[in-house]
Amino acid sequence: MPVKSKVLVVEDEKSISNFIIAILTANNYDVVTARTGQEAYSLITSCCPDIVILDLGLPDMDGIDVLKAVRKWSFLPVIVVSARANERDKVEALDLGADDYITKPFGTEELLARIRTALRHTRTSGANRDVAQSGKFTAGELTIDYEKYRVFVAGVDVGLTQNEFKIVSLLGKYAGKVLTYDFIICEIWGPNTNGDNQILRVNMANIRRKIEKNPAEPKYIFTEVGVGYRMIEGD
Ligand code: CA
Repeated sequence: MPVKSKVLVVEDEKSISNFIIAILTANNYDVVTARTGQEAYSLITSCCPDIVILDLGLPDMDGIDVLKAVRKWSFLPVIVVSARANERDKVEALDLGADDYITKPFGTEELLARIRTALRHTRTSGANRDVAQSGKFTAGELTIDYEKYRVFVAGVDVGLTQNEFKIVSLLGKYAGKVLTYDFIICEIWGPNTNGDNQILRVNMANIRRKIEKNPAEPKYIFTEVGVGYRMIEGD
């Protein structure tokens, strides 16, 4: 029998905490809970969770401070839970080393997908192991061929430019995970690019025109408004 993953849920709102516990228990996770940042911090050190679901608004401190403290000594995956419309918090959390974020209110499938993705990426030190082994990423009709440097939709080469390919392949390596605009820009154009998202937006518009049936309603690469982009999880 596979070992259950242990999830630490840090949340002071009882109804949300109960909701998360019910979902996780039903899906074969072990759950421990904390209501404050202090409790979270001592449980992280004493009971060694595999992953932490961390609310940012805690009674005794900002969840961001818990994240900062953990990141001083550990790569333990952390998914931050934040209120809607607080994009700056999400970007800050990701830049400080959160693996992902989820926005309240969220659904069962979204929570489970985020947890699966975060656990998978840590076990393979960042990038997706299946991609590394096969040299390919596949989701529906989309295939990224890392050896040929090409992207196919339904078997047809969509003809991406070099930078377009770099963006798509980066998102594919971290499929299921949101990548911030700054992270993508730094990876593609280098650290000295001015913090302007315009060039990335133009590239993304071209990518979508080439890979999506309806670029206004993308199926493969999603926009996380004010934060970045996320590739759909692979098959
Ligand atoms: Ca809260």
